[in-house]
Amino acid sequence: MYDAIIVGARCAGSPTAMLLARKGYRVLVVDRSTFPSDILSTHFIHQPGVLRLKRWGLLDQVAASGCPPITTITLDFGPVVLSGSPPPAEDVAEAYCPRRRVLDTILVRAAADAGAQVREGFSVQDLVFEDGRVAGIRGRAAGGQTVTEHARIVIGADGLHSLVARSVKAPAYNEHPSLICAYYSYWSGVDMRGTEWYPRVGQQTIAFPTNDGLVCIAAALRSDKFHAFRSDIEGTFLRILNACSPGLAERVQAGTREERFAGTADVPNFFRTPYGPGWALVGDAGYHKDPTTGEGITDAFRDAELLADAVDAGFTGRQPLDEALAGYEQRRNEAAMPIYELTVQLASLQAPPPEQQALLAALSGNKEDTSRFLGLVAGTTPFQEFFVPANIGRIMAAAAARAALV
Ligand SMILES: Cc1cc2nc3c(=O)[nH]c(=O)nc-3n(C[C@H](O)[C@H](O)[C@H](O)COP(=O)(O)OP(=O)(O)OC[C@H]3O[C@@H](n4cnc5c(N)ncnc54)[C@H](O)[C@@H]3O)c2cc1C
Repeated sequence: MYDAIIVGARCAGSPTAMLLARKGYRVLVVDRSTFPSDILSTHFIHQPGVLRLKRWGLLDQVAASGCPPITTITLDFGPVVLSGSPPPAEDVAEAYCPRRRVLDTILVRAAADAGAQVREGFSVQDLVFEDGRVAGIRGRAAGGQTVTEHARIVIGADGLHSLVARSVKAPAYNEHPSLICAYYSYWSGVDMRGTEWYPRVGQQTIAFPTNDGLVCIAAALRSDKFHAFRSDIEGTFLRILNACSPGLAERVQAGTREERFAGTADVPNFFRTPYGPGWALVGDAGYHKDPTTGEGITDAFRDAELLADAVDAGFTGRQPLDEALAGYEQRRNEAAMPIYELTVQLASLQAPPPEQQALLAALSGNKEDTSRFLGLVAGTTPFQEFFVPANIGRIMAAAAARAALV
């Protein structure tokens, strides 16, 4: 009998396992993958995610893997180009973009080092229900044998198509369908220091430096264009790059593509109720959103901490478990909602509404407020502070004063 069984051992599951094991709980974490391995995902981690890696004692390993620290974002809307460094998360000014086979392996090892039992190549097939609550898992182990294990809580960290969420019929809310389709790959010989992001009406491209001197570049269209994109991936990809940024397209064509394209149009937006009798959800299993703003890993780290604290509060009796898990859902949603709404808006690939266009134009040439604006996506500038009328009024007035001087 375990205290917790965690299904899924990537950015949500392994940190949850590690944190619970570090608190002294008996933890089993299983994944049908073996590590190191990649998954369909680019891998930008914002400063608050990097701060958590640092707090957990794992940042040095990520940095030592050779992915460069990233401190600047260039957000090029066409008529307005905003470039700057988001405010730090505490003392962490850097973002990183480690390959998933690098990051996830560091996370799985950290869970094992903390004392969690890790079973790779283990595919969960059913949940075990006893007395109306989840009591364990049944699945196929790496050797092919069917295995049943019991725990006080089963945590689904099993991603977008979570078997745990489906088995317990976790209700979804705040749903939006998939809005984009995207392909990405990796190039050598492309000079790139920071993140470059080019949103345009109907398309966008985003690029960041990663391990091994490579640059990861993604290009997206509206989701109804997936069939056309898939039928000519390379040609469509280069056309998007050219339309969004001829300069980036030129640099990319001077470089060498080192890997196959990977892509998807399966990127729905939803929250799920993340707890119930004997179960909880963390990461994409409980809250999934479009990858446009690259929040999934950073959010998974935050929610792993929130969930591990809630489970601990319940197990130690500091709080009834249900109440602690309700607090987890509330804190997750409060932290996620503003960027969720902005992500859905950006992923619609429409022109920004007029008042946003006016704000973007006003930010142009204002280095300090541009950095704070970029911190909205990084998660280091609170939305409620930035969007108070007094702050927006100050930015608009400063722009008007600059224009009057010209
Ligand atoms: C195209 C694309 C680009 C993205 N780019 C970014 C980005 O730049 N930055 C960012 O932060 N996020 C990005 N994301 C989102 C990010 O990939 C996810 O938010 C993140 O992977 C969520 O982590 P997770 O641990 O919840 O789930 P996952 O990473 O999906 O891991 C789930 C794990 O559960 C295992 N599993 C599932 N079912 C079972 C089962 N029945 N039995 C055993 N194991 C099981 C799987 O094998 C898998 O290893 C992107 C996503 C996509 C699709």
